[in-house]
Amino acid sequence: MQIGSAAFRVAVTLALPALALLACHLLRPWLDPTYDPLFIAASAITAWLCGIPYAFACVLLSALALDYFFLAPYNSFELLDAGAQTKFFLFLGSNSIIILLIHYARSAREAQTASEMRYRSLAELIPFGGWVADSSGNMTRISASFLNTFNITMEECRGLGWTRLLDEADRKQVLADWKECVRSGYFWDYEYRLRNAAGEQFVVLSRGIPVPAVRGKHRTWVGIHLDITERERSTEQRVQQARDLERFNAELEQFAYVSAHDLQEPLRMIASYLQLLSRRYQGKLDAEADTFIQYAVEGAERLKSLLQDLLQLQQVGKANRVKVKAPLTDAAIAAENNLSVRIAATGARISIEELPTVEYDLDAFVKVFEHLFENALKYHREGMTPEIHVSAAAQNKQIWEVRVRDNGIGIPAEYQERIFQIFQRLHPRSEYPGTGIGLAICKKVVEVHGGHLSVQSTPGEGSVFYFTIPAIRGPGA
Ligand code: ADP
Repeated sequence: MQIGSAAFRVAVTLALPALALLACHLLRPWLDPTYDPLFIAASAITAWLCGIPYAFACVLLSALALDYFFLAPYNSFELLDAGAQTKFFLFLGSNSIIILLIHYARSAREAQTASEMRYRSLAELIPFGGWVADSSGNMTRISASFLNTFNITMEECRGLGWTRLLDEADRKQVLADWKECVRSGYFWDYEYRLRNAAGEQFVVLSRGIPVPAVRGKHRTWVGIHLDITERERSTEQRVQQARDLERFNAELEQFAYVSAHDLQEPLRMIASYLQLLSRRYQGKLDAEADTFIQYAVEGAERLKSLLQDLLQLQQVGKANRVKVKAPLTDAAIAAENNLSVRIAATGARISIEELPTVEYDLDAFVKVFEHLFENALKYHREGMTPEIHVSAAAQNKQIWEVRVRDNGIGIPAEYQERIFQIFQRLHPRSEYPGTGIGLAICKKVVEVHGGHLSVQSTPGEGSVFYFTIPAIRGPGA
């Protein structure tokens, strides 16, 4: 018969009153006339072991036995005198109350056990689980997952034994902080490094709260241990990567600057001597030599503009350059003035509408407009006078959109993204000279200002270059 089964309960319900009855008979000389306690004990045990319905059955059987054997008239279920009736009903009443109390006590204990099991299971789900410490901060319980990971027993961890797992360098400090936390009764929130027997290091986040003392019991501490080793590792990696990237960028910038800047001087010398050669010996050597000198001069010139553009790209893209609050019209007009000779030579017409006042790097935007205007002049349609129109419109309260429209050769849709990349050109140099850096410079300047550069174009009709720039916020707007 299995404990807890229906058969077991029925057996207990019948056996205990029978035993009580037997004991009452055997102990009659000593018990008379107080037989109730043995029957009450039988009902109480039945209530604890079998539950309330069985306990009531036991009370009933006990009451009948008491009435039949021990209440006058004996060997009869009749209750004739008031004393016997009072005793009978008192027994029924008190016994019922006792089994109800036992039932509630048992239910409360079961609920408590179930709740504790739920919390323990929950704690086991957390990597490294939970812990409990007494009011003095001595560890009294630690989850099995923690003990298994560190290959340590609860006995070894008890009290402050767990601190032996702490990294040597942290131990003193952690211990002092834990003692201070216990003394002050604040929350415990600490990250520390623990090592297992194999020397493997884990980073653990330990969090705990003091649980107030209840009815005569001391305050305790409950908490969790979280394994944050991976998180820490990836954070460290990210920080290291960011540092590497920063260093790499700085080196790259330095390299770009040194290459572009320091190469200019020897290049200038090469170009000057090549020009000297060309002037002095043009026609004096054979035709092939003239061509070679010509190529060398052109190459030096190309290298010069390449270096200048690279230097510009490196300079204008810096985020910490001085900004002014001024109309963008200033930059557009300055660019127009800088290109006045070429504009006049091509007979181009430039119209610039009133552009918004924003906060921007004036020199950088002069370059932006210069590159856009230069391209409009360069990539013009055969037999058409280049026309450039600059306008602006508010995209919303925070953003302006500036447009530079031309009537040039246009750009096929499939190349409209690519042209903003450095060195991306759509035409051979023999057809249109250039370095392929101009639009990359424009893009960088616009993006450093928090905007975006794009183009819409129809081949054979012209292009519109758009860039956005944040509006000035607040009273200065
Ligand atoms: P570059 O003009 O020196 O080649 P850019 O970066 O200024 O370099 O331009 C990249 C490419 O985009 C150009 O080679 C050209 O093919 C195309 N492009 C730029 N602006 C225009 C324009 N306004 N009209 C047509 N094509 C253009």
